[in-house]
Amino acid sequence: MGIIFAVGIGPGSDNMMTVEARETLESCDTIVGYPLYIELLPESLKKKKLLSTPMRAEKERCQMAIDEAKDNKRVAVVCSGDAGIYGMASLLYEMCEESADADIVTVPGITAAVSGASKLGSPLTNDFCVISLSDALTPWDIIEKRLRGACAGDFAIAIYNPQSKKRKDYMKRAAEILYECGVEKTRPSGYVKNIGREGQEVFAGSLSEIIEADIDMFTTVFVGNSQTRIINGRLVTPRGYDI
Ligand code: SAH
Repeated sequence: MGIIFAVGIGPGSDNMMTVEARETLESCDTIVGYPLYIELLPESLKKKKLLSTPMRAEKERCQMAIDEAKDNKRVAVVCSGDAGIYGMASLLYEMCEESADADIVTVPGITAAVSGASKLGSPLTNDFCVISLSDALTPWDIIEKRLRGACAGDFAIAIYNPQSKKRKDYMKRAAEILYECGVEKTRPSGYVKNIGREGQEVFAGSLSEIIEADIDMFTTVFVGNSQTRIINGRLVTPRGYDI
């Protein structure tokens, strides 16, 4: 039986990949992934057998990995950030449920909420939610319900997949829902674009400023909770200490 590792490679730069992820990739015969993530791999790993499929061909990508693993191979499926957060790990477990072709192992990576928060300061200090605005696999009414739930609980929110060329005004739509639930337009918020990659951009300001910014699929947005402040340009959610 082969083994497939679902490996989170972190946001992009080599130094934000965990040692476990690096060692796992070094130990594999084949690495499978979306072309951009294959490109982001350290040069030394590019000598491996590399396989990729375009965006939205996730099932084909996982099938490729399962086929490779059949001859007792060690195969890695790479994902940006963490493989278990909007990644390929769950799909691999589901696709291998009925077969004994491969064992699946998840190797964690630094997810965009965590790497992006560090660039902004400390916006996720206290309880927070992670919500994706992509309605490709989750219906919009559920996304809306989760946004309302996050507001009801006064959670800070890390927003993944905020908008794309096809989903142009999704961040605005999300902000309208947050406003309806009582979040002020001035709510301290931020975004980080291209975390750990070329063209990294960090912005902290009000929620109304964020929705006017040029945010895309390589951006993670952070909306503070009612206690979040901007301290010397950094987005900070207090832990609650008296100082
Ligand atoms: N598995 C990934 C998330 C994939 S969903 C993770 O754990 O980070 C894709 C979304 O993640 C993007 O639309 C963006 O919101 C966020 N993201 C992933 N990598 C990023 C990066 N380097 N910079 C900014 N946002 C990123």
